[in-house]
Amino acid sequence: MKLDHTHDVAAKSWLESANRSDTPFPLQNLPFGVFKRAGTAERFRGGVALGDQVIDLGALAEAGVLSGLAAQAGDACAQPTLNGFFGMGRQAWRALRHALFALFGQHADSARVAALRPCLVPQSDAQYALPAQIGDYTDFYTSIDHARNIAALLRPDGALSPNFQWMPVAYHGRVSSIGVSGQQVRRPHGQRIAAGKREPEIGPCARLDYELELGIFIGVGNEQGARIPVGSADGHVFGLCLLNDWSARDIQSWESFPLGPFLAKNFATTLSPWIVTMEALAPYRAPWTRAAGDPPPLAYLSSPDTFETGALDIQLEVALETAAHRHNGIPPTRLSRTNFRHQYWTIGQMVAHHTINGCNLRSGDLLGSGTISGPTPQEAGALIELTQGGTAPIPLPTGETRSFLEDGDVVVMRGWCERDGYARIGFGESRGEVLAAKWD
Ligand code: CA
Repeated sequence: MKLDHTHDVAAKSWLESANRSDTPFPLQNLPFGVFKRAGTAERFRGGVALGDQVIDLGALAEAGVLSGLAAQAGDACAQPTLNGFFGMGRQAWRALRHALFALFGQHADSARVAALRPCLVPQSDAQYALPAQIGDYTDFYTSIDHARNIAALLRPDGALSPNFQWMPVAYHGRVSSIGVSGQQVRRPHGQRIAAGKREPEIGPCARLDYELELGIFIGVGNEQGARIPVGSADGHVFGLCLLNDWSARDIQSWESFPLGPFLAKNFATTLSPWIVTMEALAPYRAPWTRAAGDPPPLAYLSSPDTFETGALDIQLEVALETAAHRHNGIPPTRLSRTNFRHQYWTIGQMVAHHTINGCNLRSGDLLGSGTISGPTPQEAGALIELTQGGTAPIPLPTGETRSFLEDGDVVVMRGWCERDGYARIGFGESRGEVLAAKWD
């Protein structure tokens, strides 16, 4: 993917809040979501984050300021889901990005600015919906550090599964319980078995956890029976968001063998409202490497681009806000910080592997990257790793400790990219709150 003038660090917007050094949404970012004004009967429609505002793509389409392919793309974004826009492909995505960049860049004349101001809605007034109608959701497992940590804690033999270094493994997740940031998650009930006991019992999850992941939205799918080669996989991916794969560890450890995750995972998944496009992420690509002695990828999982630019340098962090944080006005406590660059498999390899058997992906399908844990213990993307299976509780500035999540806890995920010579762009935030279990 080529860099162009929309990645120029010097580019500024006439919208002042887009030029502030602390905004995740400068002109170089332009992430897509679906929104309406909160508390109104308005229809949900596409929007793009810029500074502290949302560019209302429904209003923009009506204002008639777009032309050609960008106008067609803008019309597709005026809908309550972005699936149609995703399916138009990279040329249309780029045409709209370039048009928005020109309209909101500092060179727009005053008449243009006056026409565009009514197309802005403050983010503080916005309510978000899922950006697409997600047909299918697949959750991968592509961090070798996470896999090693989990194997040591949950697998009877403590070993990395023998297939891990040969293919990006995954399971099919559930769409119905995916929600957008602000989602309230009821603590699940399930079967779990106490240490030393021979029979399970039913009860509320006692080891509720989060998993820090990136969500990967498929833009253009493939015909059933035809595969997506790894070398062209990038053209099929629209963009990335933050993803919290809520996980009930006690339910998971009892149910997962032999068929894998089921009720421990399918009760909730939370996404950030904004999808950062692959186009915006282009400057933050990085070489993808394999440790000496690890098997090289099979040919269908390898291309020159895989090695040269397959990784993405995305910084990520998880913070926790308990009821006591809120009560005492203490900001959320950071639990860990890591980077997507450490992932053992690339996004292109996930897409290529998903379709190697002819499985058809569709516009709006969602892939989870799998928990993103880095090489050091402090870079773990889940509590079960950070607390070593709950044996090393984390002290909080409220005087509390946490081994696993408690009722009222809010999990906050953030992500951003920065590189010398380029703008700092962010994903914004994903928040999800734990509600007390309810049986009747
Ligand atoms: Ca996961």
